Amino acid sequence: MKHVAANEVTIRPIYRGGKVLVVAGSDPVAGAGLQADLKAITALGGYAMTAVTAITVQDTVAVSRVVALPAELVEAQILAVLNDPGADGIKLGMLAERGIVAMVIRVLASHPRLPVVADPVLAGGGEEGGGAALLTQEALELYRDDLLPLVTLLTPNLAEAAKLTGLSVHSEADMARAAQQLQQMGAKAVLIKGGHLEGDEVVDLLATVTGLTRFVATRIPGPVCHGTGCTLASAVAARLVQGCDLVQAVADGIALVRQGIRHSLNPGRGQRLLSPCCRSSG
Ligand code: PLP
Repeated sequence: MKHVAANEVTIRPIYRGGKVLVVAGSDPVAGAGLQADLKAITALGGYAMTAVTAITVQDTVAVSRVVALPAELVEAQILAVLNDPGADGIKLGMLAERGIVAMVIRVLASHPRLPVVADPVLAGGGEEGGGAALLTQEALELYRDDLLPLVTLLTPNLAEAAKLTGLSVHSEADMARAAQQLQQMGAKAVLIKGGHLEGDEVVDLLATVTGLTRFVATRIPGPVCHGTGCTLASAVAARLVQGCDLVQAVADGIALVRQGIRHSLNPGRGQRLLSPCCRSSG
């Protein structure tokens, strides 16, 4: 029989502080959704908590079912966590339907000091706008009109920016215009992700009250990975509640996504999955 002195085995702790409440849908493959959020926040040494908005049934190829939970049940989860142990910030992912968006608006309005990072999840499947609807049309209108003004940072991709603004967003100049419009619609800051544009460089554009910041990186070749949007927004939320300024938080978020893409897995028949949980250098 082997003997292991278990009390001498140590795992290096990485907890750096910062509690983030994730309000998002479940992806059973754990490529996207709240499972990806948990991984991203944990990878950066934050503490992630979740309020589940919806159950999706999906594999690496397609989303086959979406069931939103009752808004009252989602609200009960949020209020329980905000009451005890409390959160330093909130990350919003898939909100599914109008009742949940309306409830989130109410809760955020009564917690005006909490930073809120919102990834406007509209469609699943990872393809730009091509997958199953993860937010209904009537919910989108409420999101645009009443939720945006409560958001600290909004992180749309090109398709999401186009849907929210009604503009066509196919170039960096379009991204700048869309970001400005989203700010006029109430979002304090907007990060438009340019990963779906062609080219050897990927440009993400951050618009804040002080102006634009361009984040430029060499494109990592290969197929699109599932979960990049969730991972980026959660990583930024984690860094913000750990005390980083917005530019540093976004830079760290992009770094985590790129690390996740470099170490991505191809375990199924469809999309590659991010793997951000290796140790970050920061
Ligand atoms: N949340 C859930 C539950 C999803 O199923 C998806 C995509 O399928 C997303 C969020 C968004 O994923 P991504 O990070 O690839 O934009």
